[in-house]
Amino acid sequence: MGKKLTKRNEDYSKWYNELVVKADLAENSGVRGCMVIKPYGFAIWEKMQAGLDKMFKDTGHQNAYFPLFIPKSYLSKEASHVEGFAKECAVVTHYRLKNAEDGSGIIVDPEAKLEEELIVRPTSETIIWDTYRRWIQSYRDLPLLINQWANVVRWEMRTRLFLRTAEFLWQEGHTAHATEKEAIEEAELILDIYADFAEDHMAVPVIKGTKTESERFAGALDTYCIEALMQDGKALQAGTSHFLGQNFAKAFDVKFATKEGKQEYVWATSWGVSTRLMGALIMTHSDDNGLVLPPKLAPIQVVIVPIYKGLEQLEIISEKVSPLVKELRKKGISVKYDDRDTQKPGFKFNEYELKGVPVRLAIGQRDLENGTFEVARRDTLEKETVKMEEVVAKIEFLMEDIQSNIYQKAFDFRAEHITEVQTYTEFKKVLEDQGGFISAHWDGTNETEEKIKEETKATIRCIPIDAQKEEGKCMVTGKPSNRRVLFAKAY
Ligand code: AMP
Repeated sequence: MGKKLTKRNEDYSKWYNELVVKADLAENSGVRGCMVIKPYGFAIWEKMQAGLDKMFKDTGHQNAYFPLFIPKSYLSKEASHVEGFAKECAVVTHYRLKNAEDGSGIIVDPEAKLEEELIVRPTSETIIWDTYRRWIQSYRDLPLLINQWANVVRWEMRTRLFLRTAEFLWQEGHTAHATEKEAIEEAELILDIYADFAEDHMAVPVIKGTKTESERFAGALDTYCIEALMQDGKALQAGTSHFLGQNFAKAFDVKFATKEGKQEYVWATSWGVSTRLMGALIMTHSDDNGLVLPPKLAPIQVVIVPIYKGLEQLEIISEKVSPLVKELRKKGISVKYDDRDTQKPGFKFNEYELKGVPVRLAIGQRDLENGTFEVARRDTLEKETVKMEEVVAKIEFLMEDIQSNIYQKAFDFRAEHITEVQTYTEFKKVLEDQGGFISAHWDGTNETEEKIKEETKATIRCIPIDAQKEEGKCMVTGKPSNRRVLFAKAY
C-alpha cells in the first residue's frame, strides 16, 4: 500500500488527493479533468444513489432518461441559461473520422460536419423542456415530477477528484407545476430531502439557505442550497434546488389549459446533487489514518480478520466465524470475512482502517480459548474484548453509535467554526486565522459582494433560511442590512 498518508495539518489538499487514491475510491484518468471511479468508491456512490432514489420516489417522483446531446439552438433559447453555461460547454461538430491522405494518421473528416452542432449536456433543462411541450397540455398533466440519473459535462478549468470534475455523475430533477406556489414548495421539499440525506445518511451537518443573485443557477429565479463545512475550514456547496419560475416554459412554449380553460405557462423547478457528495463525505469525517465512513454508506460495515498460525487453526476460527457472518447478514449488515492467506493481519488492519470500514473484529488463539472477539471501531479507534454471545448486539449498537458520533463530531466542529463579526477588519482576521463560516451583515448589493470576494476570496455561501431578522450595518459600506448572511472560502 506504500507509504503513510500525508497528515491533514501538513497539507490538507495533498492528504485529500492521496486518500482518494489510496482508499481505492477514484483516480485521475488519461482524459483531462475526468476521473475513474473505482469499485470501492462506486459502491459508496451506489449507496448514496439508492438512499436518494428512495426519498425521491417516496415523494412521488419518477425516473426517466433524456439524450446526452443538446442541439445548440435549444441551449440558446433561454438567454441567461446559455450565458451561464457557454464558457464550459463541450461541443460536437463532426460525426466521422478518416485516414489523412498524407498518411499522417486519423483526422476529423471535414466533410462530416454536423448541420447543427450538439452540446454535451451540462444540465438538461433545455432538452427536457422541449420534451415537456409535448407532454403537457392540461392541468391534468401536472404536476410532472421527473428525475434523471446521468452524467454531465462542464469544461471546468481547475478540477479535483469528486469535488469538481469535467464530467460528473449526478441526478437532476425537473418538475412542472400549475402554480408558482406549488413550484416553490417543490424546490423547498427537495432542499429538505437533500438536507435530511446529508445529515441522516452521510452524517454531514448542512446549512440550508438561498444563494445571492450572483451565485444563482443560470436561468433560476431562486437557488436554494445546502452548505457543508470541511475540516480545513472551507465550505462546500453540496446540493442545489432551483425555482425556475416560468423562464423555461416561456422559452420552450410550454402552456397548459387551466380548469377554467385558460392557457397559462407552466412553473418549473430543477435540482441536483452530484458525485461531489463523495468529496463532502470524505472531507467531513476522515482522519490521518484514512477514510472514516458512516455505517449507513459503508460498502463493508464489518470486517472480520482471523489471526492464526497454520491452516488448522484457521479452520477452527472459520468455524466460529461462519455462524456470526450468517447472523449479521440476516440482519442486513454487510460483513466481510477476510481469510486471505496472502496478507498478514497487520496489513489487513491498515487496509480496512484506510478504507474506513466502521467495525473490525479480530479473532485469534486467545479469543478462541476465552470465547471472545476483539472489536475495534474506526471512528474513535477504540478496541475492546467482547464475548461471542454479545458480539451481534455490540455490532448493532456500534452501527448506530458510530453514525451518530461522527455526525455529532462534525456538528461540534461546525459550531466552533461559525463566527459572528461586526467589522470588516474582524472578518478578515477570522478568515485568516480559522476560516469557517463567518456570519456578517451585508448591504445586499452585487458590488459589495464582489469587492469582498476580490479582496478576501470569501463568497456569500448562503442567506440561511432560518436567519433571524436583525437590524445592522453592512460591515463594508455601513449601509443598512436586516439580516446576517454566511460567508466562507469555498471549494
Ligand atoms: P448546478 O446545476 O450548478 O446547480 O449543480 C448541481 C449540483 O452539481 C450541485 O450540487 C453542485 O455542487 C454539483 N456540481 C456542479 N459542478 C460540479 C462539478 N464540476 N463536479 C462535481 N459536481 C458539480
